[in-house]
Amino acid sequence: MVGAATVLGGCVLLYLVLDLTLLPSSNHNAPLTRETHSNSRWGKQFESSLEKLEGDIKRNQNKVQEIKNAIDTISNFVNQRTESKEIDSNKFQNNLERDLYAGDEAETCPATSAEADINMLDLYNSIPFDNADGGVWKQGWNIEYNKQQWGPRRKLRIFLIPHSHNDPGWLKTFEDYYHSQTQAILTNLVNKLSEDSRRKFIWAEVSYLMLWWSEQGQENKDKMRRLVESGQLEIVTGGWVMNDEANSHFWAVVQQLTEGHEWLMQHLGVRPKHAWAIDPFGHSATNAYLLKKSQIAASLIQRVHYSVKKRLAQDKGLEFRWRQGWSNEKSDMLTHMMPFYSYDVPHTCGPDPKVCCQFDFKRLPGYGVTCPWRISPQPITNDNVRQRAELLLDQYRKKAQLYRTNVLLVPLGDDFRFDHSAEWDAQFNNYQALFDHLNARQDLYVEAQFATLSDYFSALKIEVGGEKRLPSLTGDFFTYADRDDHYWSGYFTSRPYYKRLDRVLIGYLRAAEVIFSLAWSHGKATSSNGSPWLLSPHAGLRNKLTIARQANALFQHHDGVTGTAKDHVMRDYGNKMIKAIDSVQHVIQMSAQYLLYNQANPELDPNDIYFHLDDTRPRTGALSKRNKITFGEGLDTRKVVLFNSLNRARTEFVRLRVANYNVMVTDQSHRPLPSQVQPLFDEMASMVDGEYELLFIVTVPPLSLTTFLISWTSNADERAPLASVSLANHQGQHKLHSAEGFEQIGSLPEGQNIKVNSQQISAVFSSHGLLKSVSTQGITMTVKLEFVRYGAVEGRERSGAYLFLPDGPAKVVMLKQAPLVRVISGPVATQIEVQHPFVLHQATIYNCSGEVGSSIEMVNLVELVNGKNIEVAMRLTSDIESGDTYYTDLNAFQMIERRRQLHKLPLQAHYFPMSGMAYIEDSGIRLSVISGQPLGAASLSSGQLEIMQDRRLAQDDNRGLNQGVEDNHPTPNVFRLLLERKSCHSEQWPRASLAAHLSHQSLLWPLVHLIAAGDPLVQLKGSFSPETSSECGLHVLNLRTSWLTERPRVGLVMHQLAWDECLPPPVGLSCTPRMSSMLNVSAVLPTSFGRQMQKSSLTFLHTGEQLPTNTNQSLCPNELAAFLLA
Ligand SMILES: [Zn+2]
Repeated sequence: MVGAATVLGGCVLLYLVLDLTLLPSSNHNAPLTRETHSNSRWGKQFESSLEKLEGDIKRNQNKVQEIKNAIDTISNFVNQRTESKEIDSNKFQNNLERDLYAGDEAETCPATSAEADINMLDLYNSIPFDNADGGVWKQGWNIEYNKQQWGPRRKLRIFLIPHSHNDPGWLKTFEDYYHSQTQAILTNLVNKLSEDSRRKFIWAEVSYLMLWWSEQGQENKDKMRRLVESGQLEIVTGGWVMNDEANSHFWAVVQQLTEGHEWLMQHLGVRPKHAWAIDPFGHSATNAYLLKKSQIAASLIQRVHYSVKKRLAQDKGLEFRWRQGWSNEKSDMLTHMMPFYSYDVPHTCGPDPKVCCQFDFKRLPGYGVTCPWRISPQPITNDNVRQRAELLLDQYRKKAQLYRTNVLLVPLGDDFRFDHSAEWDAQFNNYQALFDHLNARQDLYVEAQFATLSDYFSALKIEVGGEKRLPSLTGDFFTYADRDDHYWSGYFTSRPYYKRLDRVLIGYLRAAEVIFSLAWSHGKATSSNGSPWLLSPHAGLRNKLTIARQANALFQHHDGVTGTAKDHVMRDYGNKMIKAIDSVQHVIQMSAQYLLYNQANPELDPNDIYFHLDDTRPRTGALSKRNKITFGEGLDTRKVVLFNSLNRARTEFVRLRVANYNVMVTDQSHRPLPSQVQPLFDEMASMVDGEYELLFIVTVPPLSLTTFLISWTSNADERAPLASVSLANHQGQHKLHSAEGFEQIGSLPEGQNIKVNSQQISAVFSSHGLLKSVSTQGITMTVKLEFVRYGAVEGRERSGAYLFLPDGPAKVVMLKQAPLVRVISGPVATQIEVQHPFVLHQATIYNCSGEVGSSIEMVNLVELVNGKNIEVAMRLTSDIESGDTYYTDLNAFQMIERRRQLHKLPLQAHYFPMSGMAYIEDSGIRLSVISGQPLGAASLSSGQLEIMQDRRLAQDDNRGLNQGVEDNHPTPNVFRLLLERKSCHSEQWPRASLAAHLSHQSLLWPLVHLIAAGDPLVQLKGSFSPETSSECGLHVLNLRTSWLTERPRVGLVMHQLAWDECLPPPVGLSCTPRMSSMLNVSAVLPTSFGRQMQKSSLTFLHTGEQLPTNTNQSLCPNELAAFLLA
């Protein structure tokens, strides 16, 4: 191995020399853009190497010629070596690439935004977006080429990659697709590949592999293992699904990737090396980062705006090193972007779909699929092979003009292809005949073969002379348009009920992962036999965790969390998610009971319910149901345990339902907590009888369980204060009913503003109950909240699940009369509630210090259950001079700058995914909206931010779904709104404030409410609270128990939050707001996790050196680091 590596290194160097000096610049290393060539570091480096090498050539032409002759022999050898090395590495290599991970010594963290050859924001400024007709390649140009660029030593090498795109749910459910097609595809795969060792295939969706594998006998399993080992079959990406990159939260992306990778390791012994994302509707830089940290070496993407593709193709920039805007070249992901409209065969062999379609042999007459260009494929025969091969080669050669090298990637496949064995024969036999002819022809200088992504990228890296020769790129690929003004910004919001359910599920799933890992490691450390009961099969918790992990992973599919599947498929995802929530709630309550038990490692009844989790959904489409805490004879105190899954102390509000208004809440030492009791409403002016809401403020330690007592009391001095209730605009149109204890209902003067003051915020609401202005941190600012609506443009192409095609600017939702407004006010919170058309809007200001008191909480219960072609958005208009710049996030992991260009891009192009937050700012003030669910967001004029809430569309938008979006359910969209003073201007990359980060954590990873199910037979401990540090910025992303090895281990992922220090942290935080680039795991976790750990890749497949947990390591802002604990 060592010898081979040396030879390889030497050859790459020699090849690089040749590349630079002997090849025509028309095809190689063409300047990327004018600026790149002259200005960038890359350009300068290239120029000076070129000059130096040219000088060398003149001095010693003969020597160079000798090298050139030697190369052809050696490069063939290198290619063979590389292929066999890939196979070896799939099987055996388990080394963690050192530079990907935190080092022991302090490293310098990037202080400014990354520099790159291509910056997507600048590129957008320079692209005309004129949608010119390019001829046969409609969105490009008429490609020409010079045959002289190929010769005996410069062959065009074709890598044809057969694939089948299997959506885990879209028009059919995951299971229905499996039974109708995917099962046969995978069975054919093992049989048809085994017939001929020249055949290759790639597979992406591990969820389907899992189903298929579970039904196979030993023979088929062995066949598949052999195919993977021989390199005929490559598993690409290895995620549970091919995840959506717009709406997905990065926590869930890591989760679905880990789920897939663990399965692959367990059953096929394989660690994926390359990624394949041909169908997600736009691509996120976060995804590239997560793949990089999972030790994926290169990746392929497809759905990118057609004008961006054209520009990159013109500049030969379709292959690049995708760099994080906040990092340096350490984060670079080698990326191949496909150039044309689609991943189907007509759009992958070359620029002319009419020709390429003739090389999709599933469309041979008689198979039931035809070519829309009306020229059918022909079976390849001795008589026609010459003509057919030349016709195909012409397309390949044209496509090759768009890339820098003479290796060419050509996918061969489509949705659910290769389900019949006849199709395998038709494709593989006809292509083999074409390849045999092409490879035999001395005059064509071409080599064609079936290939995997590994084959292609290995060849590319050698051909290009090392990936550092490719340009670097920062930015992302949103918002995707596939043609004309068809921007795919509708799916950022489609089916918000399910999008919110996704976030509820990941909240519980993460809490379950953390508490389960805490509990069994604690049990192991404290029990005499070191074998924690929680891990026993009898406890049944592993199975419950698996159900939830797989349901959540499945929904990350690009027709899942996107909301672009058929109604019944969405319901199926919903049912799976609700079952998943039930499952992990069970894990949480068992783990809590286990941790609080008075004896080490107790054996619990696996079917017992010790705690109710105060949040259930009886069916898909239903809102959350809460537990009512009741009191009875001899039961005047109820226990509530709160679980904090964060590794920092936090101060939060808790809302519980109680059956009586005469209640008090205390900690375990019977000290009362700040609280209030308020009525609940079943109609606008009608209170519910016999049920109230108790609100209280708690501060809880990191990674802890803490018990609180809710007691019934007859003593009026002890009980929680009752909130006052006032109504505005009540003109008798609503039935008035008051509950016991709240007989006094105030009335607010007509047309008068409503003012609310708390410790940190003063806010003014209009007489219609909507925010008008905010004062905080010495700033007073207009922040006007409105609901606006869009219609769908008339014509053949209209808005649907994917597309947003508005009929013009939004119109403000007008009211026929002043709406009834409820103002509920007590010592700890003031809540304003108003029913607007489509939305029950609630704004709450909490009267406390810390991050919760620094923001306004907003809940929009959106009900778009009637009407046709309506899209409703919440719009905030402020005096902030934000110009044409705004910021949205990518997968709630990083912020990215957006620019408004209404002069050349339509309104719908300005909607971007808001997975976690968005903000606008000027030199002195920032307005952030933090979101508890993914939605689309835009800033359509200076000072404005708008967030789409729901959409109801009566028609299909011609992207295959074949239905509109009319299955809307009432959906509670939750937000926090933050107005912050900026004390300076940061030169660093865009980043959220600390308050915004903490608010996001508060929405996503809430305190878990555990209501004791009854009078417990055993006395439980009042708390579980390990001694750990409590820094605000060092975040335990996950503590995940893994069964990959014989004994379970806990995988830890740490995230160093990056926040903008120009926005000072809120006063009175319960965690320590220290900006750090260091990590010491032993300070973060309890000692039960042991004193040793291994560094690891993000999905735990690659592990590095063993080291003590108390090692000080550098972890730069925004970086993730993973470890396997002992
Ligand atoms: Zn798909």
